[in-house]
Order: sequence, then structure tokens, then C-alpha cells
Amino acid sequence: MPETIPPTERTRVVREAHRGAYDRETIYKILDEGYVCHVGFAANGQPFVIPTLFARVGDVIYFHGSAASRMLRNVSEGISVCITVTLTDGFVLARSVFNHSMNYRSVVALGKATLVDAPEEKLEALRAFTEQIIPGRWDDARQPNEKELKATSILRLPLTEVSAKIRSGPVEDDAPDYALPVWAGVIPLSLMPGVPIRDERCDPSIPTPAYVAQYKR
Ligand SMILES: Cc1cc2nc3c(=O)[nH]c(=O)nc-3n(C[C@H](O)[C@H](O)[C@H](O)COP(=O)(O)OP(=O)(O)OC[C@H]3O[C@@H](n4cnc5c(N)ncnc54)[C@H](O)[C@@H]3O)c2cc1C
Repeated sequence: MPETIPPTERTRVVREAHRGAYDRETIYKILDEGYVCHVGFAANGQPFVIPTLFARVGDVIYFHGSAASRMLRNVSEGISVCITVTLTDGFVLARSVFNHSMNYRSVVALGKATLVDAPEEKLEALRAFTEQIIPGRWDDARQPNEKELKATSILRLPLTEVSAKIRSGPVEDDAPDYALPVWAGVIPLSLMPGVPIRDERCDPSIPTPAYVAQYKR
């Protein structure tokens, strides 16, 4: 696959075009830091945007298909989707309300998602979901059995029409506003895991794994 995904009419960032990025390295870094995506699709003229877990494996995104799979039953060629992944990095407080902004990294991927049928590919996708969130967990927990695999619908979207957009750095105010006596700056945001809470039915003699005790994002 090419290192850059040439933007199409549909994926070219229009507003603040300089913040757009189309190289796989940038796009995949954002995807790999995320774990929730929003899947947009239309059903009978009604748009739906459903949050769900996802993982990237190579040049493909896998996501849980509970909502979309209802429609997919009769659509063998797949369903048109728009998948968005957003990482929020900071609130940008400008001197004017108009120039307030956010620091963020986001990805939008378009294309046809298809249901994954092969059990091995389903298993690979489930492993990727687990490992994308908690590396090391897959090998510790019980693996899905045949019945569980059958009950899980997974969709696959090849990453062929994709854009990223990134805003970083300080406030950008209009020149005259820099003289205003208003506090300006950035409030950084980050995702902080809390202290793990042992399940009350978890045998106290089972040690807390390092990937739990030292969990970081
Ligand atoms: C947390 C957050 C807050 C935001 N707040 C605002 C706001 O308050 N006001 C505002 O105008 N914009 C905001 N944006 C930016 C917003 O997502 C769009 O980029 C913007 O509305 C303009 O898109 P566009 O002109 O490219 O046009 P569109 O026609 O909407 O987009 C054209 C194509 O550009 C690409 N694209 C557009 N936006 C993004 C993106 N964010 N990430 C990846 N690809 C993208 C897509 O492929 C899309 O199909 C915010 C983004 C994030 C992540």
C-alpha cells in the first residue's frame, strides 16, 4: 500500500487545509492511540452514528457490528460507512471567543465495510481489539469459544480513502486582540487511568497483572 493515501474529493480537508494529513504513518499513529470510533451509516435515509470499539490491523480497520449488522444481512456487497476517531489534546483559550479552539488529532475513513465471516479473521480482530486497549490481556483471559464467535459480528473496512486532521500548538488570536487583558493559553487534556478495582469475586490470591497495575495510555 502507498505511504500516502491521495485525498479524494470526499476526503480533502477544506477548512484549515494545512491541518490535513494523508500519510499512513500519521493516520495509523492516531488510529493506534484510539480505541473508540464513531461509525456513521445511513439506513432508509436516516443517518446513524454509533460509537464502538475498533482496532487497526495492517491496512484495515475492524469494528464491532452490532448496529450495522442488522442492515448487512441482506447487503452482501457491504455498507457505506464513515468512521471517525478523535483524540482530544487540549482546550485552546484565545483572547476572543471566536478564536477559541481545541488541540486534537482525528481521522476520517470512508468506504464499504463488509462482514467478516472467517472465524480465524474474527478471532484476529477480537485479539486486536483486546490488545489495542490492554496489551497482554488476550493471552491471560479465556479465548472466545465457537458460540461466542458466532454471536459476534465484526466488520472490516480497508483504509483506502482516509484523512487525518491535526491542530496543535498555542492560541492564534487576531493581531489587535494580543493587547487585551485576557488570560490566554492551552489547558492540556490527557486520558488518565484510575486505580484498578478488583472484582469482588476475584480470588484475592490472584496477583494483579503488571499490565493492570501499571496501565498507561
Ligand atoms: C474535537 C474537535 C473539535 C472541533 N471543533 C470544531 C469547531 O468548533 N468548528 C469547526 O469549524 N471545526 C471544528 N473541528 C474541525 C472539524 O472536524 C472539521 O475539520 C471542520 O468542520 C471543517 O471540515 P472541512 O472544511 O474539511 O469540511 P468537510 O466537508 O466537513 O470535510 C471534508 C473532508 O475532510 C476530511 N476532514 C474534515 N475534518 C476532518 C477531521 N477533523 N479529521 C479528519 N479528517 C477530516 C474528511 O475526509 C471529510 O470528508 C473540530 C475537530 C475536532 C476533532
